[in-house]
Amino acid sequence: MTEQNSFNLIVIGGGSGGLAAAQRAAGYGTRVAVVEAGRLGGTCVNVGCVPKKIMWNAASTAHTLHDAAGYGFDTTAFRHDWSALKSRRDAYVARLNGIYAQNLANKDIEYIAGFGVLEGSNCVRVGERLLTAERVLIAVGGAPIVPDLPGAELGITSDGFFALDTLPGRVAMVGSGYIAVELSGMLRALGAEVDLLVRYDSVLRSFDEMLQQSVVTAMMADGIGLQRRAVPTGIEQADDGLILTTEDGNRHGPYDSLIWCIGRHALTETLGLESAGVALDDKGFIITDEFQVTSNPAIFAVGDVTGRAALTPVAIAAGRRLADRLYGGMPDRRLDYANIATVVFTHPPAGTCGLTERQAREQYGEDVFVYSSEFVPMINSFTEHRTKASMKLITVGKDQRVVGVHLFGPGADEMLQGFAVAIRMGATKQDFDDTVAIHPTSAEELVTMR
Ligand code: FAD
Ligand code: NDP
Repeated sequence: MTEQNSFNLIVIGGGSGGLAAAQRAAGYGTRVAVVEAGRLGGTCVNVGCVPKKIMWNAASTAHTLHDAAGYGFDTTAFRHDWSALKSRRDAYVARLNGIYAQNLANKDIEYIAGFGVLEGSNCVRVGERLLTAERVLIAVGGAPIVPDLPGAELGITSDGFFALDTLPGRVAMVGSGYIAVELSGMLRALGAEVDLLVRYDSVLRSFDEMLQQSVVTAMMADGIGLQRRAVPTGIEQADDGLILTTEDGNRHGPYDSLIWCIGRHALTETLGLESAGVALDDKGFIITDEFQVTSNPAIFAVGDVTGRAALTPVAIAAGRRLADRLYGGMPDRRLDYANIATVVFTHPPAGTCGLTERQAREQYGEDVFVYSSEFVPMINSFTEHRTKASMKLITVGKDQRVVGVHLFGPGADEMLQGFAVAIRMGATKQDFDDTVAIHPTSAEELVTMR
């Protein structure tokens, strides 16, 4: 059979954003090719959200088993088999890879395995094959940053975390963002000794200060060793494990594993972007306008590679809206990046939507009114750790429009989505007050705040 090399749309990157855009475009009758260098599904499915949530579920189960004693259970003999869980998790992900390939075939999208490189505005080379298209969508995502420090290669990243066959006994986590706190919590709950080394005094520093404080308190109560003001200078291999040195002259360790969680960079270096005049910002992310158009009008970009809200649903939403606009007859369709809800899967989880208190005060000054609450949720009244839940509503103006919701506590992950809808619709504090509570829950606190 002769190969078709000409398409309406070529998508480089078969992750969350690329697959969503490709499938939506194909649904409109567009001839689409998806070029993927690794495994279909990208970061989220293979080394991100999906295997992460499985590990979080395992860690949450460990917490439940630990807490069960308070409810009269004898759980003294439980143990966890990391390698058995990893095999099941890998099999689950492999099944998803197959389903993604089948979805492309069902939609007559050509899946081309290989590394795509732009050759000018309308051509993409994949090995020996030269493809052409009216439009190209770049959705190549990113990869973990490894610092340029002596011995840095002795550490691993979140990718390496998912490859671990056994639980490392002593772990150093370096970083203070989503991945550092999530992986610390999972490793600790499943039995590792964990040091979390942060450059400043807190974690999740872009989040509301209430959430930062709640997460730090809960992590420390779980036995995670928070090392503040620890700026790494290098790693050494000692006889009994890895030693991390920091700027203050301290030597931390020994550790069986060190995990770099210091952010991700865009995979834009070897994409041939210069051949098509696609501009990058100073961190290497592709610059796009509000309609996901790059500096070349025939080339578009969505997802992590654009450096905006690096979350799976954001990549998917941007990709689908772009396809709606280009092929679905919806000329104004675009993603509004404001008020995107997000959850950090700590134990318990932390969720946020809208402005932090600091951002609201910077933006609205005296017009800001804040409601907050801290309490021991009923489930924790019977557990060894009386971990407190915390909640905050940020309102602005005379009508007290809610511009921020911040939640920490059991169920916060599932609670937040509905409140994100309310914020998007412009709900006021009065709307919250007029909503009858569901009792007994933690969520009722949000509609009964004084
Ligand atoms: P990706 O999913 O990274 O897909 C890009 C694809 O492009 C990859 O498959 C890559 O192989 C391919 N590629 C790269 N270069 C080329 C090339 N030149 N040619 C062909 N193919 C190429 N987000 C959430 O919303 N919730 C979570 O709970 C969550 N947890 C996460 C946990 C971890 C550990 C990590 C690392 C991320 C997590 N994220 C989470 C973020 C989420 O995974 C990303 O935001 C999302 O995957 C971005 O999608 P994307 O399409 O932009 O890129
Ligand atoms: P983040 O951007 O969340 O956090 C990285 C943090 O590491 C920085 O904010 C910085 O914090 C610290 N840091 C940066 N450089 C250094 C350094 N040289 N040494 C020590 N610390 C450093 O990145 P992650 O890698 O954790 O995650 C990447 C993205 O993936 C997230 O931003 C998020 O969008 C997404 N993600 C989403 C998840 C979810 O939805 N639940 C889960 C996991 C990832 P500081 O300035 O405080 O030092």
